[in-house]
Amino acid sequence: MSLTPLEEALKLVLEQARPLGTERVFLHEAVTRVLAQDVYADEDKPPFDNAAMDGYALRSEDAVKPGARLRVTGEVPAGTRELPKVERGTAVKIFTGAPLPPGADAVVPVEFTRREGPFVVLERPVRPGENVRRRGEDAKKGELLLKKGTLLRGYEIGLLASVNAAVVTVYRRPTVGILSTGDEIIDLCQEKTEPSQIRSANNYMLYGLTLQAGGEPKNLGLVSDEPEALERALEQARRFDVFITTGGVSMGEKDLVKELVKKLGVKVLFHKLRIKPAKPVLFGVYDDGRLFFGLPGNPVSSAVAFDLLVYPAIRALQGEKRVKTALRAVLKKPFKRKKAERREFARCRLSYEDGKLYCEPLEKQESHMLTGLTQADAYLVVPEGVNELAPGQEVEVLLLAPQ
Ligand code: AMP
Ligand code: MG
Repeated sequence: MSLTPLEEALKLVLEQARPLGTERVFLHEAVTRVLAQDVYADEDKPPFDNAAMDGYALRSEDAVKPGARLRVTGEVPAGTRELPKVERGTAVKIFTGAPLPPGADAVVPVEFTRREGPFVVLERPVRPGENVRRRGEDAKKGELLLKKGTLLRGYEIGLLASVNAAVVTVYRRPTVGILSTGDEIIDLCQEKTEPSQIRSANNYMLYGLTLQAGGEPKNLGLVSDEPEALERALEQARRFDVFITTGGVSMGEKDLVKELVKKLGVKVLFHKLRIKPAKPVLFGVYDDGRLFFGLPGNPVSSAVAFDLLVYPAIRALQGEKRVKTALRAVLKKPFKRKKAERREFARCRLSYEDGKLYCEPLEKQESHMLTGLTQADAYLVVPEGVNELAPGQEVEVLLLAPQ
């Protein structure tokens, strides 16, 4: 199989990653979920004209000149029902959020007034409508406020609460099974019995990244490269919306994942990508539409493959449209490479200085170097055919998966 360009691979993945079903959740559990319904305003927002400041409600025609003196005839606290009428030549003390009393058309902030017994003296003129929040100026009753497919952040939760949406319909989170392969890999807390053993990073890293993407991960642990054991472990895939393995997808004799998943019913849609790192990435679908990703064993490669392909798939399964995280930045240090036939995703740090975004490639760029990834904010995208990027040059950067 030839090397698949990234755009084509992403297109193939997103074609298969159709939104899962929906469920109803309480609003306090809805943050980070994706809305599966449109949401409308239940009433005008604000529901009545009200004061934007603490001060005095008045008729602006009485406040054309500075030094105007108005008799204070009452007080309107927020939440009150009693609204004294503001007659000509009078004012009513008012607090932020309180309904504007009849007759008044403006509010003068308290800091531009002084009291003289029963009078308030204005230190400046007041324009009609000043410091009044109009009924319906934020939203009209029945207006569409949030569209199906919106990611619910804390802000949207606040808006939903304000329209009394105690329960909302959201897309289901995909379940994601994660399995690491390799004879040399040992698990967390497992005792090392051979110096050649490698402590697994991948299944825990992918567990964390899956949570960040809004999926429900299940760590299936480790399995050796022994074909029967591997086949048995791969059979667990049918319990998950997405099944991810790491290791065993390169060209070595021990790289059996591809043949075994094919045997277990996966239709392979691509196997090798024209990117660096993460060239060996296997993607396929089971006949019922569930997704299979075979990621490379090198931790940085599997992270890059996750960020570029699995992350968007997990978001799309939850009904969210793809979020573009590419930015332009100025390169701070040179970047050089010998081979340029693949697009490279080099780990870099971003900084913001004098109104410009800068990108500094990190030292540790090998695909086994997880330390480099932990110091990075973004990937520096080095295009195909480019061997060298010079300081001062504008480059494309891609933010790492959000938290
Ligand atoms: P593979 O893709 O199986 O050829 O593995 C490539 C490299 O990644 C090898 O050096 C493995 O030891 C390493 N590797 C494989 N799986 C893991 C893992 N779960 N955690 C950390 N390193 C791994
Ligand atoms: Mg291996």
